[in-house]
Amino acid sequence: MCIFVPSKKNIQLDILKNVISHAKEYGFVFPSSDIYDGLSAVYDYGQNGVELKNNIKKYWWKSMVQLHENIVGVDSAIFVHPTTWKASGHIDAFNDPLIDNKDSKKRYRADVLIEEYISKIEVKIEKEIGKASKRFGEDFDKEQFVDTNPRVKEYFSKIKSVSERMNRSLEKEDLEDVKKLIEELQIACPVSGSKNWTDVKQFNLMFSTKIGASADTATELFLRPETAQGIFLNFSNVQKTGRMKIPFGIAQIGKAFRNEIIARQFIFRMREFEQMEMQFFVPPGDQKKWYDTWKEKRMQWHLSLGIEKENYRFHNHEKLAHYADAACDIEFKFPFGFKELEGIHSRTDFDLKSHEKHSGKKIRYFDAQRNESYIPYVIETSIGLDRMFFAVFSHSLKEEKLEDGSSRTVLKLPPHLAPTKVAILPLVKKDGLDEVAKKIANSLKNNMNVSYDEKDAIGRRYRRQDAVGTPYCITVDYDTQKDNTVTFRDRDTMQQKRINIDSIIESVEYSDF
Ligand code: ATP
Repeated sequence: MCIFVPSKKNIQLDILKNVISHAKEYGFVFPSSDIYDGLSAVYDYGQNGVELKNNIKKYWWKSMVQLHENIVGVDSAIFVHPTTWKASGHIDAFNDPLIDNKDSKKRYRADVLIEEYISKIEVKIEKEIGKASKRFGEDFDKEQFVDTNPRVKEYFSKIKSVSERMNRSLEKEDLEDVKKLIEELQIACPVSGSKNWTDVKQFNLMFSTKIGASADTATELFLRPETAQGIFLNFSNVQKTGRMKIPFGIAQIGKAFRNEIIARQFIFRMREFEQMEMQFFVPPGDQKKWYDTWKEKRMQWHLSLGIEKENYRFHNHEKLAHYADAACDIEFKFPFGFKELEGIHSRTDFDLKSHEKHSGKKIRYFDAQRNESYIPYVIETSIGLDRMFFAVFSHSLKEEKLEDGSSRTVLKLPPHLAPTKVAILPLVKKDGLDEVAKKIANSLKNNMNVSYDEKDAIGRRYRRQDAVGTPYCITVDYDTQKDNTVTFRDRDTMQQKRINIDSIIESVEYSDF
């Protein structure tokens, strides 16, 4: 039995530092090109990271493709015909507004600077609520307090006016006003502390490259900034060859590339990352119904992982992208606060229509029920695999003080996502215990990821498995030789019980600690 107490490291920055160093120390995430001091915002996944990442992919794919009769997958190329990006609007509009601080020479996304200003006001609101809740105790009515407290009301109206003005200016491409807003809010550079800003400029996020051997004939291509277009380009191929009937979806997991201006916050914002996207094709007019359905379904998917509900929230977009008639984010409470984890967008018929126009090929669906041919509307669910990894990993990492006064670091990953399902540990490396343990490990390998560890005292080996998130440990001891039983230890409760060797698989799959 252990007592859970909040760790001292409960300060945002410390938590983030802790997450980054734990991810590196235990083979989850390394800076890319580490021996050359890394490459900004590019990361590699190590021996444990790749397993966790693959398990997240499998979990998503299973729930989206395997469990939906009307959703199929594709794996389209990263390179696509360059006209694709003209048609999709990425060449003209895939920009971020950037601003430089003249003193620190650091570059920022102007909208992010303003959003961070808003986040600070949100923190102030939380503080006021926290203070009042302490003051009023059990009688505290949060809703009433938020509706009536003058200071909180003022904070909310400030947030509203700032975000409305930012959205309006960005929509109108009034970059002068975005700069003015930054100056009026007296936003300072976090590095130099100065308010000496350049003008705001638009910056296209696509990486370009060339295909072809000779400089004269080479064609300029872009590394895809989203996987979605590969799905749109294959709409007719999949619909016809799969004889798919609307409504149906096409899912894809793959790399995307963005030349992000601000590339901080670990694997939250990377220049090379992976997306898990699904485009769901519906009849025109039905998009609102399906948008609501997918909002609900995706939130349920997140909650099914067992991470508490209060870590998620919806953020409905006021400023819509050029292709959308509704959009929201599912935000997660990352170590630096609530941020976008997944986007759900009602993309209208914008993409298919535009590809039809640019390619000259008909992209239509004949709806036998309606007896008409149309360009389908699209609901998109788009989640960053790396952000999902970060969400699960950072939320699972805990420091626990134990009853005996010692502490442990434990990665409480959802068991089915853990890199290793079970660790097999001989109590000592002699008297044949190691041979029995190896035999057990070999017999399980076909069913699950197993690790075998015989080095150091058993307590230290348990700690090592806790730190990489292994949900169960099996210890082979002298009794094993007598009665064919082993000790079965649960990571989260640290409880142990004796089980028969023959029931290991069942215990791992259906453990009831
Ligand atoms: P943000 O506002 O954070 O830049 P976005 O709205 O541009 O994100 P989308 O274009 O909707 O993101 O992409 C869908 C998902 O892809 C996001 O919800 C996120 O999980 C992931 N994603 C986007 N950009 C990155 C990135 N640079 N690094 C890692 N994941 C990313």
